[in-house]
Amino acid sequence: MASRILVPWALAESGREVLKKSRLRVTYLHGPAGELPKLEELVQAVKEADVVLPRGGQPVPREVLAANPALRGVANHGVGYDNVDVVSATELGVPVTNTPEILTETTADLAWALLMATARKIPQTHNLTVSGRFTGPVGHPFMGMDIGPGGSNLPKVLGIIGFGRIGRAVMRRSKGFKMKVIAYDPPLREMIEKTPGVEYRELHDLLKESDFVTIHCPLTKETHHLIGRNELELLKPTAILINASRGPVVDEVALVSVLKEKRIFGAGLDVYEKEPQLAPGLAELDNVVLLPHIGSLTQDTRNQMAIVAAKNAVAMARKKKPRNLVNPEVLTRPEYLQRVSG
Ligand code: NAD
Repeated sequence: MASRILVPWALAESGREVLKKSRLRVTYLHGPAGELPKLEELVQAVKEADVVLPRGGQPVPREVLAANPALRGVANHGVGYDNVDVVSATELGVPVTNTPEILTETTADLAWALLMATARKIPQTHNLTVSGRFTGPVGHPFMGMDIGPGGSNLPKVLGIIGFGRIGRAVMRRSKGFKMKVIAYDPPLREMIEKTPGVEYRELHDLLKESDFVTIHCPLTKETHHLIGRNELELLKPTAILINASRGPVVDEVALVSVLKEKRIFGAGLDVYEKEPQLAPGLAELDNVVLLPHIGSLTQDTRNQMAIVAAKNAVAMARKKKPRNLVNPEVLTRPEYLQRVSG
């Protein structure tokens, strides 16, 4: 019988085309407005599937992976794959793929837009203008922070946490603003030290020195609450924190209290600890810019992500090695060999 691919969300048309052309059997499982299935429904549906293609952020816990001893892969739609229990997947012999590279520039654009919007209070001043309160010169509560060298001609310091694809794309954008760039990324320390235009810093030194801190590391056990109360207190009172990686990297409750106490200038967030919920008090603050996780949300990039995720799903359904494997060690496990031997 032809392999079956389970898509438990409303995948973009570009991805559907790839799946259609593969002539494999495809099942879509979602509500009329794209609502995601409940966990029990996903567990049931995966029993009939060879490959599952979840949306980024859609939980794929061990319960789902273990529901089908014939499951041959999880083709995640997104570069971050913290929604998939990859440790269990590897143990059970299930390959997991992601969609790297194609969303790098788009996400870096968004992080940069968030940085600029937070520094110059763009949403706050937009709201002032459209609400009819722009009745004369605008002053204090809307005073911004410089991104470029400003009137005093002092370059600002950009601290990048996670100097991977997106972190480096953010650095490229900083060039026009004549910023000094420092970065923290323990696995890439040597590479950073050899790269012109960036200096390595340990985390606490980076936090103390930066005017802007932007986070681009993945969510892992090690990066959960990497930025907690202690770290937030190291920031300058004029500092701005940007997070377009994953919410739980920052202790959001601690961030709210630091922002409320005006211990830093502001924060721009695209991601939250308990998405789509926000920590109590966050939305009421006047020194934040809050976006609904739109880092990769452009038509072109989402179309490409759907194509790449679909191609990975087709490869795994055909028992071939997919391009974007995040757990390559799985390929030599007896549990995997058993899954693809039939
Ligand atoms: P990447 O793998 O190229 O880069 C991540 C970097 O983080 C790596 O260089 C890695 O060494 C580093 N890192 C790992 N642990 C670290 C730690 N403890 N401290 C500091 N650095 C550490 O990934 P990428 O393509 O640049 O994507 C980064 C993350 O951005 C993704 O994992 C995803 O969660 C997030 N993301 C969010 C959106 C969004 O919509 N907001 C869109 C795309 C990606």
